[in-house]
Amino acid sequence: MRNYLSKIDKKTSDLIRMIGQEADRKGISAYVVGGIVRDILIKEKNFDLDIVVDGDTALLAEALAKQGKGRVTLHKSFGTASVKMPEGWHIDFAAARKEQYVRPGALPTVQAGSLEDDLFRRDFTINAMAIAINPRLWGQLIDRFGGLKDLWAKKIRILHDQSFIDDPTRILRAVRFEQRLGFSIERKTLVLMKAAIGQEALRTINPSRYFSELKKIFSEADPGRYLKRLSDLGILKPLHSQLSIDLNDWNRFCRNIRALRCQALYRNMDFGLVYFIGLIAKSPMAVREGILERFHWTKTERESIRQSLGVRDILGQLSARGLTPSQVYKILRPMTGETVLYLRARALRPEICRRIDRFLVKDKGVKLYITGEDLKRVGIVAGINMGKALQEILYLKIDQRVCTKKDELNAVLSLQKQTGDRKAPY
Ligand code: ATP
Repeated sequence: MRNYLSKIDKKTSDLIRMIGQEADRKGISAYVVGGIVRDILIKEKNFDLDIVVDGDTALLAEALAKQGKGRVTLHKSFGTASVKMPEGWHIDFAAARKEQYVRPGALPTVQAGSLEDDLFRRDFTINAMAIAINPRLWGQLIDRFGGLKDLWAKKIRILHDQSFIDDPTRILRAVRFEQRLGFSIERKTLVLMKAAIGQEALRTINPSRYFSELKKIFSEADPGRYLKRLSDLGILKPLHSQLSIDLNDWNRFCRNIRALRCQALYRNMDFGLVYFIGLIAKSPMAVREGILERFHWTKTERESIRQSLGVRDILGQLSARGLTPSQVYKILRPMTGETVLYLRARALRPEICRRIDRFLVKDKGVKLYITGEDLKRVGIVAGINMGKALQEILYLKIDQRVCTKKDELNAVLSLQKQTGDRKAPY
């Protein structure tokens, strides 16, 4: 029997082996399942391990966390457990289960099941395989639905005809895998998918589920090219019925984002959010507000979207002749990182790009040497006066008009002199 784990890299292999051995010690059968199996087979890196067991998930998760110095979280009501390992691995443990959809689009009812049931509840054949990890069965592939054949043929295929009606989020998932992997959606699957879209199946699910799958699409490495497909298939309609897309503008925007993504400066930003902003920012106010209202956004997301709507105005301000670095700072400092990135991707003039880059690389992180204590010593009282004084000196420092701590103190004193009042210079 072929060993499907023989060619994985050593670190992944060591980790999976450790889980398999722990499972064995506890008398549990364990399997890696789902997307990680697909990625192992096509040699794609994936730090999310899904493990299905026929025993106590908590017991196994705790044993692994102890051995691998990980952090365990138990989800008692679901009977699942997860472990975060120091090297970035995230491991989910669940018992095999069977799902039933009582109503299209509703969450399924769940009951204990066999490994085969657990594979049958999955979205596509390529995501419905398992590999045994106990030492005795190490590397044995369990492929009941032809996943391996579809993987080599580069096909996305559902497991049964009702799949998209049961769970229409699979429509978005199909496009995500099609575009990410460069696969095609198998003929009958595509027919059923289009039929489900035509029946407005996406409207049967809770908007938050639709939105969360859409967000996953925008968080892919290069989601720009997914949009045409989503739009052609009518999958963006539930976002807002009047959302219209200018593909030329979108492609231009995505080209700029792709170039920025390579820069270390933008490494930790939420690119998914920036793509989203790019998608909706030029729509009429009613559309944007509708989208903001209909879906759940975090505070930062909401703030970034609202700020980005004023992009024309902000870019106008940033293009003013003779703008000092501290003036740029005053414009950009209140913005979220994602808004700044969005502005940068929309900026056409090199001068504006340079100003934004300088703000990010240098001025955003400028700190003063002096503190409130230093100000108290020269008689500036705590509160708004002190805050304002520190702010003014910071602007001088950004413009490189003060440099050392002594310069900063002298600048405070001269500010005081200008106002002529030692106690309240502002
Ligand atoms: P990614 O690499 O983007 O994380 P993934 O395949 O691992 O892709 P997840 O969303 O993490 O995707 O889901 C893990 C697995 O759970 C999938 O591979 C699939 O087997 C199953 N799954 C997830 N969502 C669904 C769904 N809506 N319907 C059926 N099965 C699903």
